[in-house]
Amino acid sequence: MSPELDVLLCQRYPKIFVDRRASIQTSCMAWGFSCGDGWFEIVDAICARLQHMTDHEGAPQVVASQVKEKFGSLKFYVRRATEAQIDEISRIAGRSNHICEVCGAPGATVVAGGWHQVRCAEHTPAGALSFSEFAARRRAAQAEWERLQSPQGQRRLRGEA
Ligand SMILES: [Zn+2]
Repeated sequence: MSPELDVLLCQRYPKIFVDRRASIQTSCMAWGFSCGDGWFEIVDAICARLQHMTDHEGAPQVVASQVKEKFGSLKFYVRRATEAQIDEISRIAGRSNHICEVCGAPGATVVAGGWHQVRCAEHTPAGALSFSEFAARRRAAQAEWERLQSPQGQRRLRGEA
């Protein structure tokens, strides 16, 4: 995430990002926000909801331990959270599956070079597969592998069929 948005999040939610300037031995948050600017609004919405729960609904103060993209989704890890807080994080972070990580426009999961990522049409890398294309190819590869493992397939591989 760009430095300006990083600073903005830490200014808005100093209690949640109290570990942002910790050492890397202490907290993964020291690495910063490991996702694109397109997800700023989602991270902001998660923090606004969490801080509201703490300030007005008696929930404990959560501290972010890591914020990153993983398998094409936003992951927002915290310490000292209740189940209700975890549920809220999951609910809001789920938006990342439909929002371009680069620019924040509507997007979908694509697979490029083995990496899952959420991109709008403009930011989809050349040659990327849609998730359904990727899944279909994986199923076809699995079926081919199973065919080769079958007794007939093994005989054919040995040149006996
Ligand atoms: Zn985009």
